[in-house]
Amino acid sequence: MNTQRTMASLSLDMDDKWCYLKIHGDPGWEALPTYLPTFVPRVLGFLQSLNDLHITFMIVGQDADREQNHPLLQSLVAAGHEIGNHSYNHESWMHLYHEDQIVDDLVKAEVAIERATRQRPVGFRGPGFSISYNIMQVLAQRGYLYDASTFPTYLGPLARAYYFMTTTLTPEEKAMRRELFGKFKDGLRTNAPYRWRYNGSDLIEIPVTTFPIFKVPIHISYVLYLSLFSKTLALTYFRTALKLCKLSGLEPSILLHPLDFLGVDDNQNELSFFPAMGLKADRKMGVVREALRIMADEFDLVTMQEHALHFAQASTFPILGLR
Ligand SMILES: [Zn+2]
Repeated sequence: MNTQRTMASLSLDMDDKWCYLKIHGDPGWEALPTYLPTFVPRVLGFLQSLNDLHITFMIVGQDADREQNHPLLQSLVAAGHEIGNHSYNHESWMHLYHEDQIVDDLVKAEVAIERATRQRPVGFRGPGFSISYNIMQVLAQRGYLYDASTFPTYLGPLARAYYFMTTTLTPEEKAMRRELFGKFKDGLRTNAPYRWRYNGSDLIEIPVTTFPIFKVPIHISYVLYLSLFSKTLALTYFRTALKLCKLSGLEPSILLHPLDFLGVDDNQNELSFFPAMGLKADRKMGVVREALRIMADEFDLVTMQEHALHFAQASTFPILGLR
């Protein structure tokens, strides 16, 4: 009998309100408007109600640097969740940074996150899936266990066009954001996790899983978007994707966002450009709950760190050299 566990990991990019306004080019982000005081207790209660499910929270360094957020971030750790690094400045053009800028940003985020949570992150996700060989190299040199920034989908350019439909960005600002959510050719990237090797250091890459073969998104915000048309259709889509993952031996890693838990009743009017922001929070969380139950039926749900360690021990884990 095959007793090997089949895992799936869950992570949540803790993009604060200011992160979205900044990338969207909306005024007022500099004052760092936040919804974390509403969001954090809500998501903690939600995860606890799902058999005390533990996930990975990717934290933005700038938010960890604010004293007012420390009790909130500490409550995530106290509840047993993993803390990852989601960059300091949350700039989706991080892949354009020089090496010095990359090191500055990552170290600043690590220091702030460690001071706020007393946890040193071992995982990273680039803002807006921004990733470059230089970033991977710095992560490997700094002893990170895993990166989770690749998003193998053909739909990145479409998502970006949608995001900027209502923006007032200048052409220069748009140019900096031209790879937000990735390029069309990112669809050619692998869905399967692998190990990068570079000059004696290495890093496990865990892509944000997309629909096997078709490479269309299956992260929870996308499932919520589909639920605008039909909740049954959205959950059937998600279930089919996970079944295909299982059939093809792919252990998925699924992504969550704060806006999966915040709704029209939370008065976040400036964020109404997001597709599912017309729904009430309870309705959204109902869909999220069902989606996570579908996942739990198929897989053992773990944090990204547990998932990375499990891959690291697998004898047949693929290795890729870093250019
Ligand atoms: Zn983000």
